[in-house]
Amino acid sequence: MMQLPILTDDLLTGRDDSFIDHDSLERPVHIALVPAWRALLGAARAAGFEPAIASGFRSYQRQLQIWNDKAAGRRPVLDACGEPLAMESCDEWQLVRAILRWSALPGASRHHWGTDIDVYDRAAVDDAYIVQLTPDEVADDGPFGAFHCWLDARIAAGESFGFFRPYAADCGGIAPERWHLSYAPMASYYQRQLSGPRLLQALDTESLALRDSVRSHWDEIFERFIWVEAARYPVEQQARLLAVGVGS
Ligand SMILES: [Zn+2]
Repeated sequence: MMQLPILTDDLLTGRDDSFIDHDSLERPVHIALVPAWRALLGAARAAGFEPAIASGFRSYQRQLQIWNDKAAGRRPVLDACGEPLAMESCDEWQLVRAILRWSALPGASRHHWGTDIDVYDRAAVDDAYIVQLTPDEVADDGPFGAFHCWLDARIAAGESFGFFRPYAADCGGIAPERWHLSYAPMASYYQRQLSGPRLLQALDTESLALRDSVRSHWDEIFERFIWVEAARYPVEQQARLLAVGVGS
């Protein structure tokens, strides 16, 4: 049975990569995810797919850079529908919400845990194809649609080796991201240590752009854009996976 780490603020917010395996897979991920991903890979290959990880662990610094670039207009900010936002006609809080729909707040991304990955099907495109991670790509009739339909069926049947979709439905917060998978046994352990006050304290630093607006709307941000309802976790499967010992 794998020893569960004591979750310091640095682990929760991506400032510590002690439990990240940088070498085994094509992207850095949590060590507990590696055997589960290999199991999913085996099942997917048998069905004719070749899943690959486009994005795994992301550090706090990297997320901070993305956030601050968007806040300063150095990267495009999209509105709720995915169209470029007219930033000059926005107040700070509107801008914060627009960024949060597509990008996590630095320190509050599930990618900081290494338990969450963005995936695609390498077999569906040729080598020159540049993966964008857009809704079109993962729609049922998009290039990765067949793979995601297969995955939906596995998740529904409890045969996805602990992977589930935290952002499957559009609840007005984060846009639905069919490409984003979370490894439930470890991610739920991380999420249980999360609370609004703890996170705010851990990430409220001077280097964070739009900080005043984030602080004054904190409760709403945490509820709408950070917390994932426990109901979306496949709880029984999670318990079973932890009982057999992940990564042992
Ligand atoms: Zn993601």
